[in-house]
Amino acid sequence: MIGDGENKINQNRQIKLFRKTDIILIVLVIALCAGVWYFLYQQNSDAVGRGVARVVVELDGELYGEYPLATNRDIRVWTGKSSYSEGDEPTGYNLIVIEGRTVYIKSADCPTRVCVKEKRITKTGQRIICLPHNLTVRIEGGEFSADAYTR
Ligand SMILES: [Zn+2]
Repeated sequence: MIGDGENKINQNRQIKLFRKTDIILIVLVIALCAGVWYFLYQQNSDAVGRGVARVVVELDGELYGEYPLATNRDIRVWTGKSSYSEGDEPTGYNLIVIEGRTVYIKSADCPTRVCVKEKRITKTGQRIICLPHNLTVRIEGGEFSADAYTR
């Protein structure tokens, strides 16, 4: 009789033990799934651009191009403004640089060069404006359709 009672207690303990390890296992599996999902989401968001910040360049109030903030590149924009001339060199450019998720205008031949002196922008909503060339560079969040869209 006493032995039976001990066995039952042991069985109960074993059942409880199994349930505990089951719960731990389930939690671990969920955590693993979440980790994998997060990893894939990050990968995916870089590839497709969903939810990734992009650099939007506007010239004369019209869209010039969109570029992912995560991809380093130089964008030389010919603005067609030739009010400031340097010999026979073509004039009216802004060299926009995307580097390490920051954006700045490396060089330009606008008269004031205020845009070149502007601080690097890094966040959605920030912008750099070149008034003489009527050029705006800004960071936007959300979706973009392609790696780079230029016209
Ligand atoms: Zn400028």
